[in-house]
Amino acid sequence: MKKLLKSFKTEIHPTPEQKIRIHKTIGTCRYVYNFYLCHNKALYDKGEKFMTGKSFSIWLNNEYIPDNPDKAWIKEVYSKAVKRSIEDGCIAFTRFFKHQSDFPKFKKKGKSDVKMYFVRNNPKDCVCERHRLKIPALGWVRIKEKGYIPTTKDGYVIKSGTVSIKADRYYVSVLVELPDNKTADHSNEGIGIDLGLKDFATVSNGKTYKNINKSAKLKKLEKQLIREQRSLSRKYENSQKGESTQRANIQKQKLKVQKLHHRIDNIRTDYINKTIAEIVKTKPSYITIEDLNVKGMMKNRHLSKAVASQKFYEFRIKLQAKCNENGIELRVADRWYPSSKTCHYCKNIRKDLKLSDRIFKCACGYIEDRDLNAALNLRDAMTYEVA
Ligand SMILES: [Zn+2]
Repeated sequence: MKKLLKSFKTEIHPTPEQKIRIHKTIGTCRYVYNFYLCHNKALYDKGEKFMTGKSFSIWLNNEYIPDNPDKAWIKEVYSKAVKRSIEDGCIAFTRFFKHQSDFPKFKKKGKSDVKMYFVRNNPKDCVCERHRLKIPALGWVRIKEKGYIPTTKDGYVIKSGTVSIKADRYYVSVLVELPDNKTADHSNEGIGIDLGLKDFATVSNGKTYKNINKSAKLKKLEKQLIREQRSLSRKYENSQKGESTQRANIQKQKLKVQKLHHRIDNIRTDYINKTIAEIVKTKPSYITIEDLNVKGMMKNRHLSKAVASQKFYEFRIKLQAKCNENGIELRVADRWYPSSKTCHYCKNIRKDLKLSDRIFKCACGYIEDRDLNAALNLRDAMTYEVA
């Protein structure tokens, strides 16, 4: 059975030395790519036979560089990357010969997208940990988004990758082989998840996850927190008025407030983790969520506290990580996709749907819970980005 390969791209934070090396390698790759094009153009003009990438590589290393010592710097960078740029040139020529594209263009500095290719040659190459990735010829490079690329420890193998630069930022893109056990069951259909304030999550398979902030336990803790915070500020005020509240007392109260904060936060995080684990366990072939405009929602005075306490952003990041780990495609529907306002049955859009309408009723006779209707539309969304 052919193993499933998936690609992951993320920003990296190379050291100054690594940056120099990346620039030098990419510069050399561009030079050699252009040289290969130029060389073949000259052969073509003379009516001679086209030189394949493979023969050019051999000629370059065994004849040209030894004959031209001033070009020895070509060999100072990672040779696999240079070889790859010649192969890219060869592919461009092949397309041209097959009339699939124009004559290959020269790569211009700063304008063309030249990347530093790398490949795993032995088990020590391309090892990936949560926060760093070992790239041949560069060594350990820090990853910005920790845990985004599946780790070697979990059985994933990075076959190859590229390093690229865009607007002074550095990115790595890797091709990862998924272990067999993570790709075995893909027969299940996809699901859509509607996130909200009434219920935390409504899944297209009918399951809903309540808004935990509405539970008696959290309500009680929130009330307790407000009480303790008031007591703390009272103690502050009193001490400023010169009353005999002792510093130790204030410190103690402060700690009490912090502990409560932590406890509430932990409950919310646990709930997110539990929800994600349960959803992923159903092994859907894909999951579609909305591109929640959390920032926009936070600007709304009436919603901001409720939105913050739901931790949607944390949910999204963790869901993405779990999906990556399990080979589930995470789809993010366009922000403007009217998942709530579209009738799942006849696709008619109800522009007048209010936030208070909890039941979706369509002129076609379709009646459904508002959030479930949205989740079903998300599941069937045709325009989305794969996260
Ligand atoms: Zn309808």
